[in-house]
Amino acid sequence: MVVQHLPIVKEPNKVLRKIAGELSPADIRTPRIQKLLAEMKATLAETPDGVGLAAPQVGESLRIFLVSEESEHIGGENYERDAASHKALAEEEKKKWKHFVYINPVIKKISKNKVAYPEGCLSVPGTFGVVSRPEKITVEAYNESGKKFTRGASRFFARVLQHEIDHLAGVLFIDKAKKLIAHKQ
Ligand SMILES: [Zn+2]
Repeated sequence: MVVQHLPIVKEPNKVLRKIAGELSPADIRTPRIQKLLAEMKATLAETPDGVGLAAPQVGESLRIFLVSEESEHIGGENYERDAASHKALAEEEKKKWKHFVYINPVIKKISKNKVAYPEGCLSVPGTFGVVSRPEKITVEAYNESGKKFTRGASRFFARVLQHEIDHLAGVLFIDKAKKLIAHKQ
């Protein structure tokens, strides 16, 4: 299998605004989807500032996203500080992070407590904004073998999951953010 890197689709491409389609466990095991997963992993691994990637971001309107293991390591008591110290290591360690695959994700539980924190998106380069999101979330999904799992997440990891699930509904963080800031690139 030739694994190539995929170009990231940018806003205002219409595929980012579509409701992405579900896959059956049998679909997940097809060579086409296995190839797409490998290509998405390769693409995310080569992206220094990305911790998640949803299929619509590579032009595929399917309910699939990846989250880097890195997002679990950002998120102590003060995760702003953690994010800064991790950024220094990010370039070097990027290729070593595992990627968790979520297919047909369904939110099962969500905390009442919300946290506001800056977010960005590979599909909206150079723009950041503060988004308020529930601190904790439990998600049920299929993994890349078509097996169902349920996983809880908190803090930064929970934020990334919610950001990626939004992508599958055609929602971008700029729709929810307060105080959007554009950085010159
Ligand atoms: Zn995004």
